[in-house]
Amino acid sequence: MNRFVDEMTELSAGVRYSLKGLEGIAPSASSVVELIDRQCARTPGAVAVSGAERRIGYAELAGDVSRLARRLRQEGVRPGQVVGVSAERSPELVVALLAVLKAGGAFLYLDPALPAERLGFMVEDADAALVLGGQERQPDFGGRRALPLDAQPLADEVAEDVEVAAAPGDLAYVIYTSGSTGRPKGILVEHAGLLNYVEWLVAEFSAGQPVTSLLHSPLGFDFSLSSLFLPLVTGGELRLAPAEFEHESLAEAIQDQSLDLVRLTPSHIEVLRAALDGRRDLPGARVLLIGGEVLRADQVAALRALFPSASLYNHYGPAEAIVGRCFQRLDESEEFRLADYAPGDPVPVGRPIPHTELVVEQGPDGAGELLIAGLGLARGYLNLPELTASSFVRSGADGRVYYRTGDQAVVDGHGRLTVLGRADDQVKVRGYRVELGEIEAALRTVDGVRAAAVVRTVRPHEALWAFVVGPGQSRLDAPELRADLQRRLPAYMVPHRLLALDELPLSAHRKLDRAALVAEAERIGLTATDDVAPPAGGGRLAEAYRACAQVLGVAEVRPTDNFLALGGDSITAMKLAAACRRLGIGLRSVRVLATDTLAEAFAGIEN
Ligand code: AMP
Repeated sequence: MNRFVDEMTELSAGVRYSLKGLEGIAPSASSVVELIDRQCARTPGAVAVSGAERRIGYAELAGDVSRLARRLRQEGVRPGQVVGVSAERSPELVVALLAVLKAGGAFLYLDPALPAERLGFMVEDADAALVLGGQERQPDFGGRRALPLDAQPLADEVAEDVEVAAAPGDLAYVIYTSGSTGRPKGILVEHAGLLNYVEWLVAEFSAGQPVTSLLHSPLGFDFSLSSLFLPLVTGGELRLAPAEFEHESLAEAIQDQSLDLVRLTPSHIEVLRAALDGRRDLPGARVLLIGGEVLRADQVAALRALFPSASLYNHYGPAEAIVGRCFQRLDESEEFRLADYAPGDPVPVGRPIPHTELVVEQGPDGAGELLIAGLGLARGYLNLPELTASSFVRSGADGRVYYRTGDQAVVDGHGRLTVLGRADDQVKVRGYRVELGEIEAALRTVDGVRAAAVVRTVRPHEALWAFVVGPGQSRLDAPELRADLQRRLPAYMVPHRLLALDELPLSAHRKLDRAALVAEAERIGLTATDDVAPPAGGGRLAEAYRACAQVLGVAEVRPTDNFLALGGDSITAMKLAAACRRLGIGLRSVRVLATDTLAEAFAGIEN
């Protein structure tokens, strides 16, 4: 029936497809740090990592990593032990991550942008032995030992090489993702799986040449690991975007033709569309490796128009299966023709990488849950044996472990996979993975809250709306409540709007009717109320308010409104900045996002 599929089994209701990546390719090392060590010896003089303030070559990288690894060993770091690393994107951060691996430990990246309470939980939950990082702005990690990362104290250590202590089955890193029960969950990743992923990157994108990449996304998102490791194992340059990387800068950065690989999410494509504002045929990186969310044909068309010489790839995978497990090249070819897809259609995520099996049990309606097996699976969730047992299931005569992704997928007539989306309450917000249940659990701990439901809307633009039973609207509007949520949740998980309800709507099956809440949120989002009127007339300030209402898709916005609370996000902020530029008004998107009210954002614009 489907000659491109590796294995097909008729089920009583549907068909089971299995797609298998190449097997039998032996790994070329026991860990990624071993590959990086070899690379340091091969190209000592080449630039390895460049940040805004400092760049280091491969010889210096090797020396710094060895010194810190030696120190970590002296501190007692051993295989299986977790070491927190807290630093902004910088060469020192890269050295720290590699040193933890070389010493045999597992890194836990602690993004300084996350709330202290969340970081504290992660450090406790992972039982980190110590935390590496600048201490100035650091929260108190429950009294864990901290080692500073600035070069000075390390310079005293001996620079002799240290043997790599990591074995394939040892833990390489722990990465936290949103958890539906109200607390983030730690995913345990071993060296063998990470190495398998990096070796695929090399085989697909390097062809024996150095690969230069741009790391611009947070390292707490495993998507970033492609850009982090590929240059360092091929002798290329790892370019680090500055910590405060403005969205507008991404468009500029990608136009650098010396870049070989840039990772993007479909949300970034929307950012680029807005920032580049009708421009096309720009130079661009050699490869744009896209993933993180469903990629639509119209987004592929937009990216092709912006950067016609770049090769585009769709790349799929959850953090539980180490960054990415399958890929589809999207250049026009026999294998892929964009014209075969309607603008809103998802494009395929293709076929598995080596040592990976993808299984879809398609029901009579055509789609089914995607399961993943192979070398690239995480060990499971930290301290959550029940969740691990229900998500990583054993199946078949050989008891192979399959990770249940929760994604709905289909296999097409070319034996390629297309991911359609999810059947549960996990969503992506600006590319970040979010369990709505985690936000609901945070809301339920607020005094007086009896019930809470959160939905994600896409119209007039992407936003999170919380419907809360208990406190009145004035309590929900109070800045203290928002501040409390900001203390506990990452910024991208704090709902844009909080609305009071008498009770949550239920469906005919007595389950929460999220569709009704989405409809209500979109209805409110598309209309506006008026208390403090914006300035009228044709002056510049009045024009700025009108431009704001227009990009948000609402009838009117008021000076007391908060841009995020109106459903604004980084993309709409950029659109507003671009619209203001056309009006001759200088307004930066970060200002719109960082200020409490539009009056503050527009302060300085004369009418
Ligand atoms: P994360 O663990 O943050 O990488 O998120 C993994 C989830 O993102 C997957 O389970 C999918 O729902 C979604 N995802 C990632 N890449 C893709 C892709 N290329 N196409 C469709 N969905 C994707």
